Amino acid sequence: MKKHLAMCLLFALILSLSGCSPKNERYVASYWDAFDTQLTIMGYAKSKAEFDAASEAAHQEFLRLHKIFDSHTEQPGAGVWAVNHAAGQPLQVEPELIEVLELSRDMAEKTTGKFSPALGAVTEIWSRYRSEGVRLPGMEELMAASVHTDISDIRLDAGGRTVQLLDPLMRLDLGAVAKGYAVERLAKLLSGMMPSFLIDAGGNIRAGEAPADGREAWTVGVTDPAAALLGESSKVLGKFQAVNVSVVSSGGYQRYYEVDGVKYHHIIDPETLMPGDKFLQVTVLARDSGLADCLSTALFLMDYDVGRALIESLPGVDAIWVRNDATVLMTPGAALMAVGGE
Ligand code: AMP
Ligand code: MG
Repeated sequence: MKKHLAMCLLFALILSLSGCSPKNERYVASYWDAFDTQLTIMGYAKSKAEFDAASEAAHQEFLRLHKIFDSHTEQPGAGVWAVNHAAGQPLQVEPELIEVLELSRDMAEKTTGKFSPALGAVTEIWSRYRSEGVRLPGMEELMAASVHTDISDIRLDAGGRTVQLLDPLMRLDLGAVAKGYAVERLAKLLSGMMPSFLIDAGGNIRAGEAPADGREAWTVGVTDPAAALLGESSKVLGKFQAVNVSVVSSGGYQRYYEVDGVKYHHIIDPETLMPGDKFLQVTVLARDSGLADCLSTALFLMDYDVGRALIESLPGVDAIWVRNDATVLMTPGAALMAVGGE
């Protein structure tokens, strides 16, 4: 009888405790002060204070990484800006820069140079002409700059944490990978504080654990690039189920200018020195956001067969190509993630 009473009391205690524990609520925060993009963090937390602590920690990390990877404005510390202005001298840098350069070198090799972290001298020209918005750069000017884009001129000493650009006129441009890498760092940080999260950094999406509201996955929309080129950027090509995965797109509609009615965008083919023209958009689905970011830029410039073979050689990586005629091709893994099938 006593034992029975004790069990009843214990049961009542457990019930009242679970009744007291607050439910997970969904919160959202947006910031617009790093990587030239809007950072949105969505997550399920027990309280607003718990969410604020997690999202603010992620925001601070995003700002710190922005300073390391920014090549456009002068930044203090040992990041890309400092390396680009070291006049060919070796410089001790932040460990994150070494990590991204190692990933970038590996990617340059795997993509036969279509992705290159050493293209800054050329992309700087395009970005200057784009902001002026009037003319195209001349081929002579682009060719002269391309002399300073030899990736073997990046000397990396991971042990001593130094980077040296053997060609003092070389400029690193990590714009195709740094944001994704940063998002992955944020994901690692959030996993320990608020595991059910979704990060959206200007379309570079990283989902954490499933939403803590009973749904099996986050639903992520992939932009319809043909509609985006006509100014309708909210139209989606398709929706995908995402848990512990990144969804990263590269497209010509993201950053471009027009000369004589023709659009010239920001993803430059190192062979032609001109904007790539094979696809409207390529999206990569992979757990690691840094890898997905590199790959989406590279695939945008690679022939479909070569790009598809690369994706199939990488476990856990899928892709969606949108051709210039708006036809869509995807790997079986991407089709499986599509809401409602391919
Ligand atoms: P994303 O939006 O990730 O595809 O990256 C585009 C950005 O990467 C551009 O704005 C440039 O800063 C840089 N970029 C352009 N062309 C290349 C290339 N072939 N390889 C690596 N980075 C590039
Ligand atoms: Mg990229």
